[in-house]
Amino acid sequence: MFYLLAVMIEHGVMNLNHPFSYAYSGVGKPLEGLRVRVEFGHKDLIGFIVEKPKEIQGNLEEYNSASQLKVKEIKELLDTEPILNEELLSLAKTAAAYYLCPFIEVLKAMLPPSLRPDTISLTKPKKAYEEKYYLTGSSYDSKDLDRNELKLLERFKAEKDGLSRSQISSKISLIKLEKKGLVSLIKKEKLRLAKIEDEDFEEHELSQEQEKAYQAIAEGTNEVYLLEGVTGSGKTEVYIKLIEKTIKEGKGAIILVPEISLTDRMIARFRSLFGDKAALIHSGLTDAQKYDEYLSIARGDAPIVVGARSAIFAPVKNLGLIILDEEHVESYKQDTMPFYDARKIALLRVANQGRKLVFGSATPSLECKARAEKGIYQLVKLESRFNDVKLPQVDLIDLSDYSNIDYDSVIISLPLRKRIQETLERKEQVILLLNRRGYAPIYYCRHCQKILKCPSCDRPLTYHKEDKAVTCHHCSYVLKAEDLVCPKCGGKVFTYSGFGTERVEEELERFFPQARIVRFDADTARKKGKYHQIITEFAAGAYDIMIGTQMVAKGHDFPSVSLAVALLADQSLEFPSYKANEDTFDLLTQLAGRAGRKEQGYALIQTYSPSNPVIKLACQQDYEAFYKYEMENRKQRVYPPYCFLINITISGKDLSKTEEASYRVKDYLISKLIREKGKRTDIFGPAKPFIEKRADRYYRVIMLKYKNRDLIQDALVGLNVLPLGESDLKLVIDVDPSSDI
Ligand code: ADP
Ligand code: ZN
Repeated sequence: MFYLLAVMIEHGVMNLNHPFSYAYSGVGKPLEGLRVRVEFGHKDLIGFIVEKPKEIQGNLEEYNSASQLKVKEIKELLDTEPILNEELLSLAKTAAAYYLCPFIEVLKAMLPPSLRPDTISLTKPKKAYEEKYYLTGSSYDSKDLDRNELKLLERFKAEKDGLSRSQISSKISLIKLEKKGLVSLIKKEKLRLAKIEDEDFEEHELSQEQEKAYQAIAEGTNEVYLLEGVTGSGKTEVYIKLIEKTIKEGKGAIILVPEISLTDRMIARFRSLFGDKAALIHSGLTDAQKYDEYLSIARGDAPIVVGARSAIFAPVKNLGLIILDEEHVESYKQDTMPFYDARKIALLRVANQGRKLVFGSATPSLECKARAEKGIYQLVKLESRFNDVKLPQVDLIDLSDYSNIDYDSVIISLPLRKRIQETLERKEQVILLLNRRGYAPIYYCRHCQKILKCPSCDRPLTYHKEDKAVTCHHCSYVLKAEDLVCPKCGGKVFTYSGFGTERVEEELERFFPQARIVRFDADTARKKGKYHQIITEFAAGAYDIMIGTQMVAKGHDFPSVSLAVALLADQSLEFPSYKANEDTFDLLTQLAGRAGRKEQGYALIQTYSPSNPVIKLACQQDYEAFYKYEMENRKQRVYPPYCFLINITISGKDLSKTEEASYRVKDYLISKLIREKGKRTDIFGPAKPFIEKRADRYYRVIMLKYKNRDLIQDALVGLNVLPLGESDLKLVIDVDPSSDI
C-alpha cells in the first residue's frame, strides 16, 4: 500500500500551477497541507500537498506499469502537521482563483518565510529556546540560607521572567539554591519580538455616541459593518471595546491599520490592555520575529493580532472579529504578486462563518460606502469629534492670484506666512504637506534647456541638494551632480525648477529662522527607527513645523497641531487615474483632521484651481456631498463601483515586440469574450501606461470593465497561459487594480 499525493511545486508560474502526482510509501500518514521535498526535472524542490492523499493498494511499481505512468516517490515529508488549517487552505484556493495567480504565490503571501513552500525556507529561522533559572520552590527556613543566598532569592522573587546564568554573579549561591530545590533551570521557547514598553494607556469610558455605535455593532446581526466616523471621533475606542467583548467570548480578533508605522501605537495600546495576548504581524519584522508571532497566534496563545496588510492571513484560532481601520487607504492593496487586497480577503474570511467585519473610516471608499447605502453592509456613524471639538476650519488660498505671492516665494504664499507666524507665536505646531520628495523635480542644462531624464525609465530626474545628486524615483538610478554633463550640448552648468520637500524646508528656514523645523519623507525616514523617532519627537513638541510627503497626513494623533497645510492641492488631482478625485479628497480630509484635536484648528489648502469642485468640497469637509458628486462621475464614465476592473500588463525589453504581444493578447480577449459568446466585457487598449518605460522594460496595458466575473473567468484563466513569443515578455494580471493606468 502507498499514498498517491497531489503536489504543487514551489515555482510560482502559471504553466506549473497544477498538481503533480507523487507517491509516499514511508512511515506515517501524509496529510493535505504538508510540505514535501520532491525531485522535479532533475532538481530538488519543495512542494505542497494540495489534496487529501489517496490510499492505493499494491506497490508503486505495479501502479506505474498498470497505468503507464512514471510517478516518483517523494524524498521527504517536511512537516508533521499541516502548515495551514482547513479554513486558510480553502481561503488560499479561493484567493488564487479570484486573483488569477499561482496558488503557491498565495501560500507564500500567507506564511512567514520559515514556513513557506520554497527552498529558501529551509535556511530560515526555526524556533529558538533559552534556558533560565526560575523560582520553583517556596518552602524554606531562612536560617538554612546564608546572606548571599537570601539576596539572590529576593532577586528571583522580583523577576517573574527568570534570570539567565550570566545575570547571576554569585554562581555558588545559585548552585546552593538549586540543590535546595528553590530554583531550577527551565528551557522555554524564546520570543524574538522585543517586549514593547508598557506605555500606560488609560482605559477610557465610551462617550454616549461611541457607546451607541459599539452597541449597534456588538448587538447587530449583520456580518459586515461600516463605522463612518469623522477624524477624531474616537473610532479606536470603539474597536477596543469590540475586541474586549470578542476575547471575553473566547474568540480571536484581527485589527489592521494601513501602514506599518501606525502599528506601533496600536500594539503598544493593546499590549498595555491585553499583555502577551496581542501579537504583531507586518512585513517590517525580522524573519525570526515573524515566525514566533505566527506560531503563537496559530497555537492560540495570542488571540489578538495587530498588523498591516499581510496580517489579514493570521491563523487566529476561533476568529470572531476583523477590523480594518482607515478602510479607504490604498495600501491595503498589494501592488506586487499576488496583488491581493486585504479588504477583499477580509470579506472572504467572514462570509458565512458567523464572524463580524468592521470597516472604519472618516472618508470610506466609494465601493464601501455604496454597499453601506444599499444595506449590504450596516452603516454605523460617529458624527462628532470626541469632547465635541469642532472640525477644523478650512480656507483656500488661490496661488494664481498675484496678490497672494511675492518674489520671495511662489509656494509659501503671503497669507500662509502670516498664518504660520501666528501659530508659532501661540506656541502651537504646524504641519505642511507636499507630495514630492527631493529638492526639485526638474533638473536641466542652463545652456540648451535639455531636461535630464533617466536612461532606463525616460522620466525626469529629481534633484536632491543634500545628497548632491540627481535620482530617478522609478528605479534606483543615481548620478552625482558634480559629474553631470549635458547629453545634448556638453554643458556643465545646470539649474532646476519646481518644488520638493527639501526645497520647501529651505524656504521655511529662511522665513522662520527661529522655528525648529523637521522634514518627514522617505529620504529622512529611511534609516531604521528614524520614522518612529520623528513622529514621537514631533508629538512631544520637539519641533514647531513639520514638512513632509503624504506620510504627515496619516492617522497620527498630534495634540498640539493647530494648522495643517496642503501646499499644492492640484498635485494629486492631476494624476491621470480614475481615482484621482477620491484620493485628493481623502488626502485633504485626512490632513485637515490632523489639526485641532484638542480645540478647533485650521487647515489651509493652496491651489491653482480654486473653483475645482473636489477642492471646494474638501474645503467644506462635506464627505456626503463629495460621495454624491463622485458617484455621479463614476456612473457616467462607468468606473467602480459601477463595474469591476482588471488590468492586464504586458512588458518586454523590446518596444515593438511588446506592442505585438499586447495586440495578440487583445485578439485573444476579443475572440473569447466578444466573438464566441456575445459581448461580456468592455476591452480597452493596449494603451501606454503613465510610466511607459521602467528599468529598461516597456509596458502596455489592456483594461477590462466587467460586471459578472463568472462569465469571463474561463477566458481569464486561459489568458494566463497564452504563449507570448519571446521569453522576456511578461504578462501580469491585476484584479481590482488601485488605479486604471
Ligand atoms: P479617530 O481614530 O476616530 O480619528 P481617535 O480614536 O484617534 O479618533 O480619537 C481621537 C482622540 O480622542 C484620541 O486622543 C483619543 O484618545 C481621544 N478619545 C476618544 N474617545 C475617547 C474617550 N471615550 N475617552 C477619552 N478619550 C477619548
Ligand atoms: Zn529610472
